[in-house]
Amino acid sequence: MSSPITEGRRFRAYTTRHLDELLERAGLSGEQRLRARAVATVLPFRTNAYVVDELIDWSAAPDDPMYRLVFPQEDMLPAEDVTALAALLDTDPRGPRLKAAAAAVRRRLNPHPAGQLELNRPTVGDSRLQGIQHKYRETVLFFPQQGQTCHAYCTYCFRWAQFVGDADLKMASNDIDELVRYLGEHPEVTSVLITGGDPMIMGEPVLRRYLTPLLELEQIESIRLGTKALGYWPQRFVTDPDADATLRLFEEVVAAGKNLAVMAHFTHPRELESELVADAVRRIRDTGAIIRTQAPLIRSINDRPELWSGMWRTQHRMGMVPYYMFVERDTGPQDYFAVPLARAFDIFREAYSQVSGLCRTVRGPSMSADPGKVCVDGVAEIGGERVFVLHMIQARDPELVGTPFFAEYDPHAVWLHDLKPAFADRFPFQ
Ligand SMILES: *Cc1c(COP(=O)(O)O)cnc(C)c1O
Repeated sequence: MSSPITEGRRFRAYTTRHLDELLERAGLSGEQRLRARAVATVLPFRTNAYVVDELIDWSAAPDDPMYRLVFPQEDMLPAEDVTALAALLDTDPRGPRLKAAAAAVRRRLNPHPAGQLELNRPTVGDSRLQGIQHKYRETVLFFPQQGQTCHAYCTYCFRWAQFVGDADLKMASNDIDELVRYLGEHPEVTSVLITGGDPMIMGEPVLRRYLTPLLELEQIESIRLGTKALGYWPQRFVTDPDADATLRLFEEVVAAGKNLAVMAHFTHPRELESELVADAVRRIRDTGAIIRTQAPLIRSINDRPELWSGMWRTQHRMGMVPYYMFVERDTGPQDYFAVPLARAFDIFREAYSQVSGLCRTVRGPSMSADPGKVCVDGVAEIGGERVFVLHMIQARDPELVGTPFFAEYDPHAVWLHDLKPAFADRFPFQ
């Protein structure tokens, strides 16, 4: 049943100004609330009425996985940092010392994994293009300036540094002509992935301004929209004032002969339950767009195989296509959310074994790292040595795609940089 609470209501973000009140609802004491708010001086917080009223089970908060998905928790940061920030927040919340202390903690959280700011940013002539990443031969990522936020923020987001209002951390463009010029010089690019933030935070007229020029380009086979709006604000496709216009825009993209892929981020099966999501999915599919689903594997939120097999089956039944299970990236509160690769593989394998072949379009667990996407294919015993079997799903160097390689088994390894090559001096990408 759709709830009257949020249906038809205009989108309004809840920010740190609303945080104390919301934390109170989770039953936290004054001291606990102060410490959670101290974390929110470092990591971005934003949510909305749909997440709060429809997704979170408040009787289970603060342990509820949907609560953990959006609310800051004090153990996400080192206790001494939280104590120092909490003291400043309590005594001088608007002073420069709190800002400086928060910035210092941020810098220790590897805010730019995989060289996000400088690597992969192409140049035209002498100028480095803002808001464009060309990492794989066929695929270009574009970050529209008006899409640099989301309907709610995930506590584990690897792009969290973009959202904290630190100007030099941002990387976005409002210049679609620059992208079109770049594509003209790079006929090998067939797929444009529009991401952010969340491009679906943009209203239809702005989204249209970005999409229309791409429809003229013969070389472009697919346009992808990376979004969590289906999980966090499905109204975007159903009852928002520009929902119908947005769906007409989707139809135009399809009519132009492009594959329009809505890359939907779903973290937990609960995000698939509301009638609004079912409506939104139906309406998007009716435009001819394809919805593919992806999410990272996050400790304490979705680290159980039955949650993944349940998500994939429900998504499949709703007409969506399971695409990737990611490994949580090496940034932000990674110690807090990371699942070791060995465990991640077990969860993936068990979930994968529980679904029909039609759901096995999903791949993972996959690390989106500097050299490309590395997939953990399993653990094997070769010549008496226990090893991880890996392959690259994507690589900067297309020659490396699909070739198996090995790493020493390490039950504690959580990311590519924890792995050591086996049967070789180095990994193929080194
Ligand atoms: C996953 C990913 C893409 C898209 O890769 P596909 O395998 O084509 O889905 C593009 N850029 C980055 C940085 C990625 O991690």
